[in-house]
Amino acid sequence: MTASFSKLALAEPLARAVAEMGYESMTPIQAQAIPVVLTGKDVMGAAQTGTGKTAAFALPLLQRLMKHENTSTSPARHPVRALVLLPTRELADQVAQQVKLYAKYTNLRSAVVFGGIDMKPQTAELKRGVEVLVATPGRLLDHIEAKNAVLNQVEYVVLDEADRMLDIGFLPDLQRILSFLPKQRTTLLFSATFSPEIKRLANSYLQDPVTIEVARPNQEASTVEQHFYSVTDDDKRRALKQIVRQRGLSQAFVFVNSKLGCARLARSLEREGLNTTALHGDKSQDERLKALDAFKQGKVDLLVATDVAARGLDIKDVPAVFNFDVPFNAEDYVHRIGRTGRAGASGLAVTFVSGSDTRLVGDIEKLLKRKIELEPMEFEDERPRGRINDGRRAWREAGEVGDPRDVLDGPSRDRPRRDPRPPAQPKDPFFDQPYQPPSTQEAPAWEAGAKQASTSRVSANIKTRRKLPALFKAG
Ligand code: AMP
Repeated sequence: MTASFSKLALAEPLARAVAEMGYESMTPIQAQAIPVVLTGKDVMGAAQTGTGKTAAFALPLLQRLMKHENTSTSPARHPVRALVLLPTRELADQVAQQVKLYAKYTNLRSAVVFGGIDMKPQTAELKRGVEVLVATPGRLLDHIEAKNAVLNQVEYVVLDEADRMLDIGFLPDLQRILSFLPKQRTTLLFSATFSPEIKRLANSYLQDPVTIEVARPNQEASTVEQHFYSVTDDDKRRALKQIVRQRGLSQAFVFVNSKLGCARLARSLEREGLNTTALHGDKSQDERLKALDAFKQGKVDLLVATDVAARGLDIKDVPAVFNFDVPFNAEDYVHRIGRTGRAGASGLAVTFVSGSDTRLVGDIEKLLKRKIELEPMEFEDERPRGRINDGRRAWREAGEVGDPRDVLDGPSRDRPRRDPRPPAQPKDPFFDQPYQPPSTQEAPAWEAGAKQASTSRVSANIKTRRKLPALFKAG
């Protein structure tokens, strides 16, 4: 699809912003959705993040809002007229940043509210008046209850990543929020899939929606080299370290299915000398933004993330993606590996498959319409591993598999569900060894981790270890 933005007759301030962003042609979702949203119709769009979906709804909404633009400084003249709801803080922040860029040359004001940070600056911004409000449901309800946000003049509402919002359990919050909005409005719903639940939501809140579906990502990029290694749960970390070392990888994404597993894996890899950070819903907002920034700047080599935390994040062209856990949802496999091998660059996608994952691999085969060959993981340098295994066994017995509800990663404050209490941290004999000063001959960090690990040892390794050329480009 190569339709140009010039076909749309966008208002000059919007066209200028789009040109400044360097967009040359519309993406398929934009070509289909923008003309429909410009007419004010309800839309039900099946589109993933990364398809240009934000501009697909933001540009036409801004164009419509511009018809009654207000240059007055009075907050009363800037009521909330468009509301965009998203499931996670990162997505809300990202969409809000994009909206700000598109609205840069207009007089429309926008703001974002999400949980995990102080409400006061958000309140101050809301009190000044904003036309476009981007929010996560929990924090928005807090602002509604505190009377900081008044939604009775909303003309447009966007339920973005609606499937994820339902997955996380936001339906009651959404219903409450929608009850504050005028009945006469335009509703846009975007979702990766049109599940029966999504259809029910659409039936309740959309009027004669135009359905827009762009091709679902069921194709792997041909530039991604994919491997599925058969490996026990106990051996996954070792396999990961070996591949990182053998391939000389400078950076990689490591996907896990639960936020509990995410934090644990990141912690143990860090202890073993790999420069790692975790991205999941239980981190403070500040920590998460810092983690992302560090990764984008190449200060961190491994970013361990859950699907929800990583979804839609503007990080592209990572040299490798590891599926430490096989994703529960086959489409997430395509999302995950889509982080690598973009724009013709070659990428590596490695999936660790343990005994219980056979059905999930079957789902991926069905989606990709091809047979997946499981490869045996061959370890070099077999060391006696009794101690390590003992530690790992203790670790797993204490809940490594985790509560299935942990698969749903979302911001704690915004989550309507009760969080399971994390199990007490077991002692891991492997990591609880006394500190040994580093030998004069530096071993690569990942090998050192297999011998003796301690925080001090690890930081010494991080400082001295050879930095491989960064292949990574942040988007
Ligand atoms: P989204 O799916 O909205 O999160 O967009 C993903 C990325 O694509 C963002 O970095 C956008 O800035 C970028 N993008 C959106 N539309 C276009 C376009 N027409 N041409 C090039 N890049 C785009």
